[in-house]
Amino acid sequence: MAHRHDPNDGGEFQSPALERLVRGLSRLPGLGRKSATRIALHLVAKESPAAELVEAVNEAREQVRNCSRCGAITEPDPCRICTSERRDPSQLCVVASPVDVLPFEKAGFFRGRYFVLGGLLSPLDGVRADDLPFDRLASRIDEDGVAEIIIALDASVEGETTALYVQRLFEGRDLRLSRLATGIPVGGALAYTDEVTLQRAFQFRRGF
Ligand SMILES: [Zn+2]
Repeated sequence: MAHRHDPNDGGEFQSPALERLVRGLSRLPGLGRKSATRIALHLVAKESPAAELVEAVNEAREQVRNCSRCGAITEPDPCRICTSERRDPSQLCVVASPVDVLPFEKAGFFRGRYFVLGGLLSPLDGVRADDLPFDRLASRIDEDGVAEIIIALDASVEGETTALYVQRLFEGRDLRLSRLATGIPVGGALAYTDEVTLQRAFQFRRGF
């Protein structure tokens, strides 16, 4: 019985160059071989945006960094939020990932500054307290005279574990520790929470 080869079905193109491109693309998050193949064919077609994309990738790799003070994604370092005179240094919002800063900034109600942990405690995945920048968080609190920490982490097991850890770490200090009110979907990513829900969760933030 003859085998019919469909490139989306595990077969390969008769072009090692195209195969290499497909394999490279399919290593990107969220792309399987099928989507990678569609994109690769689009990129090698005549009216391809490939040259512009290569330039954009190179420029982004050169310019984009994490703010050395807060961890947000930025070009100038420290970032504009950390250096702005109009932001209140006494309020520090602790988030897990740089993308979590975006919904707050989009909603526009928060006038404090941020601290990005870059992850959440997860004993099962081997992420322990030593792996997260809690020492930098502590020095940030001292340097900026932070009076309130607002913990804005996902309502997942890892988010809860991390929130409790932060609370225990700083509970002896003269510091208000609060967390977003419920309203962030359980297990849901903070970055995808809509502005109204986020603002309400912030307004009704509560102590531990
Ligand atoms: Zn910053």
